Amino acid sequence: MSKGKVFLVGSGPGDPGLLTLKGKDLLEKADVIIFDRLGGTENIEFAKKSAELIDVGKQSGLHNIPQEKINEILVKKALEGKNVVRLKGGDPMVFGRGAEELQALITENIDFEIVPGVSSAISGPTYAGIPITHRDFASSLAIITGHEAVGKPESSIPWSSLAEMDTILILMGVGNLKKITEKLLENGKSSDSPVAIIENATVGSQRVAEGTLANILGIAEKAKIKSPALIVIGECVKLREKFSWFERRPLFGKQFIITRPLEQSFELASLLQAAGSKVFVCPTIRIEPIEPNPGLHNFFENLPDFRDLIFTSVNGVRIFWKKLQELGKDARILAGKNLICIGPATAQETKKFGVNPDFVPERYVSEEFIPFFRGLKPAKVACLRAERARDFLPLELKKMGYEVEIFPLYKTIFEDNIDSEVVDCLNANKIDGVVFTSSSTVEGFVAASDAKKIDREKIRGLAIGPITGETCRQMGIQVLCESSEYTSKGLVNAITSFFNPLKK
Ligand code: SAH
Repeated sequence: MSKGKVFLVGSGPGDPGLLTLKGKDLLEKADVIIFDRLGGTENIEFAKKSAELIDVGKQSGLHNIPQEKINEILVKKALEGKNVVRLKGGDPMVFGRGAEELQALITENIDFEIVPGVSSAISGPTYAGIPITHRDFASSLAIITGHEAVGKPESSIPWSSLAEMDTILILMGVGNLKKITEKLLENGKSSDSPVAIIENATVGSQRVAEGTLANILGIAEKAKIKSPALIVIGECVKLREKFSWFERRPLFGKQFIITRPLEQSFELASLLQAAGSKVFVCPTIRIEPIEPNPGLHNFFENLPDFRDLIFTSVNGVRIFWKKLQELGKDARILAGKNLICIGPATAQETKKFGVNPDFVPERYVSEEFIPFFRGLKPAKVACLRAERARDFLPLELKKMGYEVEIFPLYKTIFEDNIDSEVVDCLNANKIDGVVFTSSSTVEGFVAASDAKKIDREKIRGLAIGPITGETCRQMGIQVLCESSEYTSKGLVNAITSFFNPLKK
């Protein structure tokens, strides 16, 4: 059997977006991914389904599995002919024992490549708004390890030269902060040198303690700063006051759950993340087209009888068009029909198929669409929608003399995707809000959370409009905010104004 190859890939410091394109490509192709808890572990989501994922659980420098054992696993998997990615926090060559892993591969004559990553040493200060170099007052920079190096006779840190550097960056140093500050003061560094300690840099839980060489120890102890953290010393720390950006984003530090189907979560998740929050995607419903659907076939056969077609959701439009295409038809069969879309997202979807709706009520309330139908002569209307949906619109139309036929296109199936991390966060009140985009997402989430014995009081709803909000309340869920605009953007604006009324 031919030997496999090992790729040492830097995963970045924590923010999953800081993985390189090359790293992503390799993760997608790997047979085996060996990862630990430092850096962007969320990126293992790129793994193909059949990939073997091995968690070697090193947590912020604590080695749960000894390094020799990790080396052994790397070698073993490569000898089995596997394509192995060893995902390492930050950059694999910066204090990450990457060199030892390479040595083990070389000894066994195993082929390897190294993919650099965004080191926490560089990106941590950047995310704290600290420029580690500055034309006016920081031309030199030293990066050192604070781990065990201090106080040992064999310490190889040249403290007196270090004290002369403009910017000093210390990794693995929080445990030795006392000795580090003493050594630098002893070696002539000014006691009022600005110091920042950045904990959990680049992720939603990032915290920064600030002080001077004289007082940082007390400040860090009071703030209970823990590893992983970086210590930055130098005048450039002062610029954070002006340059801080990551922590200033309007939803910074908040944690949300998104409950809508996976394929529709992307826009909402990226808008919430861009505003600074951490998002857990836990779809609680799945959309399943009704198949076979003789009713829909009937609809197509009797299409000439209908003047108005009503679509109530993006899913409905997608499934309708798929069926239409399967039957070898195209948009021309809709010529002369009135197309009514409930809400802008649904309208956007029909536009994708080259058909502009004739009428789009902004909100699903009678005042918005009754005047439109009043202005027309009653005729035959087709309502293309979910199997289970509110009968509000058909009833109103019937009252006006319309003949309404309902064509169910899809079923909504409840799913339980609330994993143990999310259960723990909910129980510990660490979830600031659960985002509901329809009544069925509320019902699905409640079913899943009841199964996990989560108290409904722990669930704080963020709803996409009054109907979804009302479903929450009926199910005993407190509603923090209801958006009046029924789009992902509108919902995120409403959430942002709720949590941070001063920022948009
Ligand atoms: N190869 C890694 C460093 C590994 S050493 C890199 O290039 O980033 C582990 C140390 O890195 C931690 O003790 C801490 O000092 C630092 N570190 C790693 N990720 C960090 C993060 N997200 N926030 C703060 N410090 C981090």
